[in-house]
Amino acid sequence: MGKPGVDRTLSVLGIGLGVAVAAAAIVAALVMGTGFSLSTAASTSAVATPTRAAASAASADPQPTAEATPEPTPETVTVTVTVPVSSATTVGLADTGATPAASTPATSSVGTTPAATTPAATSSTTAAGAAAAPSAPRTPRTGNLFEGAYFSPYTAKKPSVGGVRLATLPDTPRLAMTGTFIVLDPGHNGVSDATIFARQVPMGGGKKKACNTSGTQTDSGYPEHAHNWDVVVNLAALLRERGATVILTRPNDASIGPCVDERAAIGNRARADLVVSVHADGNTARAARGFHIITSRSMAGGAAVTSKSLAMATTIRDEFAKGTGMPRSTYTGAGIAITRRTDIAGLNLSEVPAVMLEAGNMRNTGDAALLTSRTYRLKEAHALAAGIQKALGR
Ligand SMILES: [Zn+2]
Repeated sequence: MGKPGVDRTLSVLGIGLGVAVAAAAIVAALVMGTGFSLSTAASTSAVATPTRAAASAASADPQPTAEATPEPTPETVTVTVTVPVSSATTVGLADTGATPAASTPATSSVGTTPAATTPAATSSTTAAGAAAAPSAPRTPRTGNLFEGAYFSPYTAKKPSVGGVRLATLPDTPRLAMTGTFIVLDPGHNGVSDATIFARQVPMGGGKKKACNTSGTQTDSGYPEHAHNWDVVVNLAALLRERGATVILTRPNDASIGPCVDERAAIGNRARADLVVSVHADGNTARAARGFHIITSRSMAGGAAVTSKSLAMATTIRDEFAKGTGMPRSTYTGAGIAITRRTDIAGLNLSEVPAVMLEAGNMRNTGDAALLTSRTYRLKEAHALAAGIQKALGR
């Protein structure tokens, strides 16, 4: 490991064209913003079985099987995709724990991944995918590709990297939201750990803040993260029914997901049409109630993205109020239930339109009664789906 990355790259490339192409495929998967979701050879034939299996495991199971599986080695995570035609592809991908920016040099990722250079080299369809990548590395892909939805087997101690892409099912007809990419961020994490509060990450404007916080809870102890997760799961289903491709920033409500800066990066890598972060507030003024939507005053995407986010927030606000009956915030948002802030990393760092919902005040008795109701949370999901669809002009 004394050699610099360039030397290592050259030696990898020197092995042969097949290996180089395979390396490019891994790189393409990273650059295309799939995080840990690997674009495998199975994609071109739209294999239904692994799609459903992976998607359902990622979306709905609150108690991931990952907990029961043995821990992988810290540096390498392996995912196996079985293709019905009796062939199987195993691809290793290094989990460095670092945030892989979209511009991360591909060579370093591949060079440090021992498993990546072996089995994938035999796949010709992987090469085809790699060939298409360099020309448009940041364009969201459309269609019914199986993206190999994958989530890390968390140890619940370390923030993860990457999103969970829930691809549309094969052979669905064109629907109202076909071709759209929506990133849904269920705020906070299923479990909390002091290390994530201590870890500092960029929040935009040259400043830093904690990787994440625990979130709030109702007086009776119903945690915000559970509310956020439940709303997002329902919302994801509704959007997918309408043809959208949905990407979640965390895979379950039983582990620690990515830091807030990485959540923004997930939306950026996907070139999402919209990122919606779902939260509920914890204002200690007990009489304070109502929902509001937060937007950033200055986003990485520039003035156009910032103003587009504000416009979308307005549309979503109206649909949310109409669909849920929740009043506008009485304690923030200047009566219009929209606040513009500078301290929200997930919004500041977004290169694509992004908004954050504060669904109500969990410390208010009236709001808490709603937010703890499963029926009401389904209402929230329906209202958000309507708002998102309208905001996208679909
Ligand atoms: Zn929150």
